[in-house]
Amino acid sequence: MCERGTVEGGTMLRGVVKKVVSVEQAEGHGARVRRSIGRKELRRLDPFLMLDEFCVRRPAGFPDHPHRGFETVTYMLKGSFRHQDFCGHSGVIHKGDLQWMTAGRGVVHSEMPASQGDNVGLQLWVNLPAAQKMTQPAYQELSASEIPSATKDGTTVKVIAGESHGVTSPVRTFTPVYYLDLQQETGAATTQPLPHHWNAFIYVLAGHISVVNEEEAVESEAHHTLVLGEGEAVTVKNIGPDRAHFVLIAGEPIKEPVVQYGPFVMNTKAEIDQATHDYHKSCNGFENAATWRSSPLS
Ligand code: MN
Repeated sequence: MCERGTVEGGTMLRGVVKKVVSVEQAEGHGARVRRSIGRKELRRLDPFLMLDEFCVRRPAGFPDHPHRGFETVTYMLKGSFRHQDFCGHSGVIHKGDLQWMTAGRGVVHSEMPASQGDNVGLQLWVNLPAAQKMTQPAYQELSASEIPSATKDGTTVKVIAGESHGVTSPVRTFTPVYYLDLQQETGAATTQPLPHHWNAFIYVLAGHISVVNEEEAVESEAHHTLVLGEGEAVTVKNIGPDRAHFVLIAGEPIKEPVVQYGPFVMNTKAEIDQATHDYHKSCNGFENAATWRSSPLS
C-alpha cells in the first residue's frame, strides 16, 4: 500500500508533507540567515541538523567557534567566504565552490565574508553516526569547476553529493547523502530518483516551482522548505516566468538519539558535557583551542 504518492510508470512519486517559510533571523556576529531545517517548526530531518541560507556583509560573520560530532557543508552562491581553523587550515571559497568539513572530534574555526557586498551561501549540517562522531577532522574542498553537472530538457543539476542523471559526485560522505543544486528554465520538468527510505527536502532559492504527483501539486516560491513524503522519486516543474533555482537534499536516517548543545551534537548528555569540558580545557581534540585566534581580514 502507498500511504502517499502514486505509482507513475511503476515509480511512486513523493509528495510534500510539510511546507515551511524561512524568515530572516540573527545569527553569528551581526549576520542574517534564513533557517530551513533547524527552525522550531522543522527541528531536524535525520540525518540533517540544520540548513541556513546566509547573506552576510563585512564586518559581520561567524568568528572563532567550535564544532564536534557532525559535518558542516558550505556552498557559496554569491561572493566569497574565508575560513581559518585552529590547525592552520585556511582558504577562501568563491561562488559555486564547496567546502565539506567533517568536524569529527573537534574543530575551532572562523567563517568570515571575504568580498564587498552580499556574501550568500548555504550551510548544511549533516549528523555523524556514533561510530564516527570522534573521527579525525577532515576537509573536502571542490571548486565550482570540480562539481560535476548535467543538463537535460531545461534542467541543469550540479551534483554536490550523490548522483543524478548518470553523474556522480567525488565527495565522500559518512552518511549516504544526495545534495543536488538544480536550475530550471521556464516550463522545464525533471524527475529525480531517491532511495525510498531516505528523508528528503527541497529548499527554494529563486523562482516558482511545483512538486507534482498524481494526487497533488504543491507550489512554492523562494525561501521555503518542502519536506517530501515517502516514495522513490520526486518530480519538480518550473511554473514561473523566470529561471527557478532550488536544492534537493536527501539522506539515509541515522536513527540514533541526538543531543545538541549549540555547535556540539552528540548522542547523550554526558557526551555533551564531555565536549564542553574538552573545549574549555583544550584536550581530546581541542588541544589548540586555548591558544589559537583567527587572524584579522586584510
Ligand atoms: Mn562553523
